[in-house]
Amino acid sequence: MANRHPVKTYLKKQRKKRLEQGHPWVYLSEIDRVEGNPQPGEVVEVFNHAGTFLAKGYLNLNSQLAIRVVTYNPKEEIDQQFFNKRVQRAWEYRKRFLQNDNACRIVYGEADFLPGIVVDKFADILVVQILSRGMELQRDKLVQALIDVLQPKGIYERSDVAIRQLEGLAERSGPVWGETPREVEIIENGLRYIVDLEEGQKTGFFFDQRENRAAIAPLMTGWGASSGIALQPLGEDGEPLFDKQGAQRPGIRPLVDEQGEVVSKPVDKRGKVVKNPFWDGAEVLECFSHTGSFTLNACKHGAKKVTCLDISEHAIETAKRNVTMNGFLHRVNFVVANAFDYLREQVQAGQLWDVVILDPPAFAKTKSAVEGAYRGYKDINLNGMKLVRDGGFLVTASCSYHMKPDLFKQMIQDAAFDAKKIMRLVHWSGAGKDHPEILGVEEGHYLKFAIFEVRSRGW
Ligand code: SAH
Repeated sequence: MANRHPVKTYLKKQRKKRLEQGHPWVYLSEIDRVEGNPQPGEVVEVFNHAGTFLAKGYLNLNSQLAIRVVTYNPKEEIDQQFFNKRVQRAWEYRKRFLQNDNACRIVYGEADFLPGIVVDKFADILVVQILSRGMELQRDKLVQALIDVLQPKGIYERSDVAIRQLEGLAERSGPVWGETPREVEIIENGLRYIVDLEEGQKTGFFFDQRENRAAIAPLMTGWGASSGIALQPLGEDGEPLFDKQGAQRPGIRPLVDEQGEVVSKPVDKRGKVVKNPFWDGAEVLECFSHTGSFTLNACKHGAKKVTCLDISEHAIETAKRNVTMNGFLHRVNFVVANAFDYLREQVQAGQLWDVVILDPPAFAKTKSAVEGAYRGYKDINLNGMKLVRDGGFLVTASCSYHMKPDLFKQMIQDAAFDAKKIMRLVHWSGAGKDHPEILGVEEGHYLKFAIFEVRSRGW
């Protein structure tokens, strides 16, 4: 193959100048002609209709997504050095932007100029996912580059995704190199997680919500007053210094510490000292919890009680282990249930929480599924906001690319109309810094994450 002339691919005159605008894909319908006889996945040169060089990319004529650009430099060879350089750059980017590089996404496909590859780092184990025929052919070079640049203990493959069929590839998973234990412990936002490399969803853990998980911190405390608990000075007998009418109890002096400061403790409506150190914490409901990641962040930041729900028993078992490992077990209830049913039942039962968190899987996997997905999102968000105490918060996300940001906001507004709520947007974001986006590559912009304060109209 090396001795052959490179295959030349010419694009049609009438096409969007997407490639020139930085988008790394060319569709089959945009190709005018191919000179040569390429193997599926071979690196080819791409020219415009007038013969101007545009890029080099993987060509797979069996896929609608026919070309994926690998370089804009005509002199760059797609050899070992190329892979080492690209992986090195991706790693340097993570080291610059992430406080903790123990666990993160190292390569995010097109956005790291390595189309069709995902690499996640779980402490000293790497998990790779190969999604294109072109990268499949270069697998050995990729693996070598990962070894050279990142010096992992082991590399595991999780290419067990149906989307590979579009490239004519079978699913594959298993150890690739070095030692690959089934489970790895990682640290994210200062919290410990066990990641199941073999059975965990996708590559085992979702890094895209890292910063969003941390963003719930300010919601987790400041709730004591709403249940009538407030800090009050104690008397020398250890009981509140003042009685319920606010008068100092006769003959009782304030309790002071060694520095001579008056000691204060939380006291409830009945005048009883509250022992629970999380008295000021939020009551939280997390649905679609998977590894329990939002639950863990909630506990870390002082939540009083968290209900952690997922439909999958395996997910809840994993969440329970993670919660236990971090010392939060006494603050968390686990529920295995369908969130749609659970939310509806809790509304009927009149339950309320300070914070409700919804991080569902992608309901719309295709454009045509958007309508059904909209109803699904609206259903859970409608019931979710009904379950929030007045002045509490709804934390809500969608990872469906087809559910565009404006549509997502529209859906929340529709739900708020039905629930008679006023929603105040506190925080709006997408995926974290290890999921960079190339401007103009809409497909990379899939995650919507929002925090809303929920108010009833009568407030
Ligand atoms: N919040 C998680 C990611 C959630 S992924 C994190 O940060 O890692 C979506 C999760 O929703 C999966 O664990 C899946 O088992 C669960 N799920 C899917 N359908 C569900 C349903 N109808 N009810 C409850 N959980 C569901």
